[in-house]
Amino acid sequence: MRPIQMVDTKNQYLKIKSEVDAAIHEVLDSAAYINGKAVQDFTTALNQYQGAGFTIPCANGTDALQIAMMALDLQPGDEVITPSFTYIATTEVVALLKLKPVFVEVDPQTFCMDPEALRKAITPKTKAIVPVHLYGHAAPMEAIMAIAKEFGLAVIEDNAQAIGADYQFSDGTVKKTGTIGTIGTTSFYPSKNLGAYGDGGAIFTNDADLAHKMKMIANHGQQTRYYHEMVGCNSRLDSIQAAILNVKLRELDKYIVARQTAASFYNAAFAGHQQITSPFVASYSNHVYHQYTLLLEGVDWVGLVAYLSEMKIPSMIYYPVPGHRQKMFAAFDLPKLNLTTTDWLTERVISLPIHTELDMEQLSYITENLLAYINR
Ligand SMILES: *Cc1c(COP(=O)(O)O)cnc(C)c1O
Repeated sequence: MRPIQMVDTKNQYLKIKSEVDAAIHEVLDSAAYINGKAVQDFTTALNQYQGAGFTIPCANGTDALQIAMMALDLQPGDEVITPSFTYIATTEVVALLKLKPVFVEVDPQTFCMDPEALRKAITPKTKAIVPVHLYGHAAPMEAIMAIAKEFGLAVIEDNAQAIGADYQFSDGTVKKTGTIGTIGTTSFYPSKNLGAYGDGGAIFTNDADLAHKMKMIANHGQQTRYYHEMVGCNSRLDSIQAAILNVKLRELDKYIVARQTAASFYNAAFAGHQQITSPFVASYSNHVYHQYTLLLEGVDWVGLVAYLSEMKIPSMIYYPVPGHRQKMFAAFDLPKLNLTTTDWLTERVISLPIHTELDMEQLSYITENLLAYINR
């Protein structure tokens, strides 16, 4: 059996090696290392794939969130509502911009923002909501957008884990996640579903003014070189990464199917087990399985992770410490938060290997060993 990895970017690369290598060499030959044709081509292709109004490439998914929040003219102390059960980048930028992160609960089935918790967290100081499409499953955007509209709030979708996912509204309209809110952001970190071979990110919006502004912010606040109209930052997608991503974007739908196939295998193996809950898929969304995350009940979880590791099966806990318990926010004078669902989930989730290169032999080995440990 081939060794099992949490993500297998190497074998994925080998299948598209000739195209990727040619794309990289084209950039080298053109010497357009910064904002070259590769960046324009990829941006156009991604914009079309997403069905977005505007797509702005940038250096990484964290910058994408920061640029989005800078463009909304939020003032120090303004409140931004985010889930606590997410990767730190989502909330870190809120703090970095001297805004106040307000953590809310997630739904224990979807692991995404709970709209009722969101509604209760809104105060006169609330200015923005940042739902996260965690693990590759969409947050309940229809409900979130309705609340945002009611209170006049901006919505930034953190789509770093769900690029390619579809969201179906109750009227049947289907949109790509990341194109529903005021702004959407994503990351091309190598392990993401659309991963570069280095860092990268992008921002989506349907608002022409915001698009123009975010493009300027990502480029030192300038439209005309050396005339800086606002404080911005330096956040560019590298031309070589864009060339690689342009090849990989053509594979994205196939990659999603490969992840879904692996997930179906897991689901079938764990179906009906008393102690194992497989990932939930809401009627409004498909799942693109950035992670395949189980909820375990009554399992010696630390022992399981150690056992799997002994059997050379990697597994991860995403995320061992939720935002509201991170030291970095200690100085933030956040209200004493009682996020019982988030804490409950944190002690029960485990993510198994999921990627485009898993074969049946590996999947059987993983499920057999996991079940053997739990059924002991
Ligand atoms: C990966 C990720 C980010 C940050 O992306 P980087 O490109 O690593 O900066 C933000 N939010 C979520 C939910 C992520 O998973």
